[in-house]
Amino acid sequence: MDMYAVFGNPISHSLSPHIHLQFAEQCGQNLHYRAILAPLDGFAESLADFFAQGGKGCNITVPFKQDAYRLCDELTERARRAAAVNTLIRKPDGKRLGDNTDGAGLLRDLTQNLALPLKGRRILLLGAGGAARGVLEPLLGENPGELVIANRSLDKARNLLDEFATLGPLRVCGFADLSREQPFELIINATSASLAGELPPLPDGLLQDQGACYDMLYSKTPTLFQQWAGIQGALVNADGLGMLVEQAAEAFFLWRGIRPDSRAVLKELRGR
Ligand code: NDP
Repeated sequence: MDMYAVFGNPISHSLSPHIHLQFAEQCGQNLHYRAILAPLDGFAESLADFFAQGGKGCNITVPFKQDAYRLCDELTERARRAAAVNTLIRKPDGKRLGDNTDGAGLLRDLTQNLALPLKGRRILLLGAGGAARGVLEPLLGENPGELVIANRSLDKARNLLDEFATLGPLRVCGFADLSREQPFELIINATSASLAGELPPLPDGLLQDQGACYDMLYSKTPTLFQQWAGIQGALVNADGLGMLVEQAAEAFFLWRGIRPDSRAVLKELRGR
């Protein structure tokens, strides 16, 4: 049976095995998918073992996406731009191809599941870490009116500006400058602040009337950012569960050549 896995540390919370096994059942694919806890100092060895045992492909999550990027023989263009790999494919010649499906997953959730048009819109992206980097190219590809990155460490945001400014109307600022910004139609939280029970300092009036907010983090109860978005009157107030399912669907398609019904799996997860 074809073997797939997700690597992370921690990993017990991962929904990926459940999502991929649902996809496999839907599509009549006979495969095995498991979660692998790689030691923090032993990811390269765990990955090598997995492929030596015949693994066909894997997903990579926190904190190994940048390590995976360095351990691939070949990279897709979007993985190269993201400088991080969340999906590995073992090619017929045995080489490891690294891809990054996070950006495609976010885009599909925003534009298809949530029906949010991005063309011409003013978008604020909070954060300049790996997740923000991975979604910049697909977001700019939708021709927004303007995309502003706000980050706690301004240097990191400036680095992203240097790399991505040629792809579209991009600007960066610190959180303290946000009070001088015109309201945004869409605010995406790509910081990990909610994980630490924190919220970046966001001024009132930052979200346009009937605007949309998206937190890449997902949790059973609304995140701090979603609570803030509710107070600001967000018409759409989403968490990142849809992004998780859609990035998985994209990986499944890369491995098996079949696009699963991601919406059915998202619905099932929401109903749990
Ligand atoms: P990184 O560690 O690479 O980056 C973290 C970012 O959050 C940095 O910009 C950092 O700012 C900022 N940050 C952290 N704490 C605070 C705080 N207290 N106040 C303000 N800013 C803060 O993480 P990732 O980019 O990999 O992940 C970010 C989030 O996206 C995580 O919550 C992750 O779970 C989620 N994610 C969800 C996915 C999905 O499928 N739904 C996929 C990928 C990620 P600074 O640069 O100043 O340190």
